Amino acid sequence: MFCVECGKKGKTYHGLCIDCYLKRKKFFVIPESIEVAFCRECDAYRIGNEWRRGNFDEDLRSHIMNSIKAEIDYECIMDGMEVVCRGKFEGRDVEEREHVRMISKEKLCPECSLRKGGYFEAIIQVRDASKKIMEEVDGIIRKSAERSGSFITRKERVRGGYDYYMGNKKAAEHAVREIKSMPGVEMKMSSTLHGMKDGRRIYRDTYSLRFTSHIGKFIKLDDVLYYIAGREGKKLELRGVDGERRHVYTEDLKRAVKVDLKAREARVLYEEGDYLHVMDMENYRTVVVRKPQHWKGERIIRIVEYEGKIYAVDENV
Ligand SMILES: [Zn+2]
Ligand SMILES: [Zn+2]
Repeated sequence: MFCVECGKKGKTYHGLCIDCYLKRKKFFVIPESIEVAFCRECDAYRIGNEWRRGNFDEDLRSHIMNSIKAEIDYECIMDGMEVVCRGKFEGRDVEEREHVRMISKEKLCPECSLRKGGYFEAIIQVRDASKKIMEEVDGIIRKSAERSGSFITRKERVRGGYDYYMGNKKAAEHAVREIKSMPGVEMKMSSTLHGMKDGRRIYRDTYSLRFTSHIGKFIKLDDVLYYIAGREGKKLELRGVDGERRHVYTEDLKRAVKVDLKAREARVLYEEGDYLHVMDMENYRTVVVRKPQHWKGERIIRIVEYEGKIYAVDENV
């Protein structure tokens, strides 16, 4: 066979000798340009069709690398925006390079445009928290919004605390779950019908979190150790370490002895009659505790140590 280009005799590729073929052939498709957008309001960016946050350089690099197409086995390296791809064809080295042009724009990411429009799906109301607790709560809410890629539409100072307007239900839910585990907090949740979307009812959730000083503490009253579990109307609800319930007025606590105990987590290993074998997560010791009366099979429970004995806190009432 003869090369149609230079006339050389030998093996041909689409009518060309290997030299002419290699001169003409493109083995790699490297994008010439790439469109990116940066959010005007936050640190989100869009590469391709997807908005994200994180390491822009790394994401850009992997996006470019992933969009390279090749007909032969290859290796690519990137030096700045210069892409060099190398491979072999019929034992010959093939190298192609391309300078990728970055076309960047400023835009609003989807979250920021929702936020700017005042959009929210849930409200978290925090009341009666001390300054220190408020800081902690604020941190939890912010982290939760961030983790779910969402936002806080606005934070409003109101009598007795703050209202957080949350851009995302799930973020609110996660934050509330975490805040609820803090001592001395009571939570109430309500949903109101907000409207319809695609034929479905849209609800907005409102979480009311109220911190009280007594809740979450341990006391000894009439010689029984109690955990102050919550408030029921005007009374405080006490739970004895053996599962008994009792309701008292705040004034009744004057007769009680405050016991400075901190509940800590324990992992339930197995159940045996009225007892649970648990692992104290603070020191990884295995201990046996009386099963809380209202234990529902949770793997993680809370325990307290009092006068050398370990008690499980009954929290599910
Ligand atoms: Zn040729
Ligand atoms: Zn944004």
